[in-house]
Amino acid sequence: MNRLRIDPGAFDAWSALPVYFQEQSPFYVEGDVATPTAFIELIGHGIVAEAEVLLVETTQRPDDRYWLEPSVATGVYSLVDLLALDFHHPLLRLGTYDEATDYDTLKRLWDEGYRVPSRRWSRSAYEAHLARERQFEHRVSPTTVCAYCALDLSDFYGPLANRLMEYHIDADEEMWVCPTCHKALHYK
Ligand SMILES: [Zn+2]
Ligand SMILES: [Zn+2]
Repeated sequence: MNRLRIDPGAFDAWSALPVYFQEQSPFYVEGDVATPTAFIELIGHGIVAEAEVLLVETTQRPDDRYWLEPSVATGVYSLVDLLALDFHHPLLRLGTYDEATDYDTLKRLWDEGYRVPSRRWSRSAYEAHLARERQFEHRVSPTTVCAYCALDLSDFYGPLANRLMEYHIDADEEMWVCPTCHKALHYK
């Protein structure tokens, strides 16, 4: 396991992590990892943080004001210090990684995957894609009909519609699409 998993229903991680990150104070998370750093996953959401593990203990649950329910059970707990926290990281989306994703891949996605829309992109591939499309930014679209959803933007925006259309390039296809579809195409 390369992740420490927190159930946000049992521990108020949304409140706790920003505070502990800002204060640079270590805190305990249930479980342990065998990797150089630990990724912290909120169950049902995704990875929100990378942490250094300071020590691992088998103990009764350590006190922490962010636990949402009482427990006296004994377990394995890692004392962690947050290295990075991001509640908007792409790895926060389900489906961007799975049980089989190894540490090196997670580390790369965490470090380089910043703001890429889906797992098919590396940061450099996504930046290259946007750079290619940016070359067409000055061009005004010859059409106001989205090649993807068939919406005619001129129905809503009149003469502005041509300038709202965006140029999307896929390996084999080039098309004029509406901004929403363009965003959606990048998420695929
Ligand atoms: Zn569209
Ligand atoms: Zn595009």
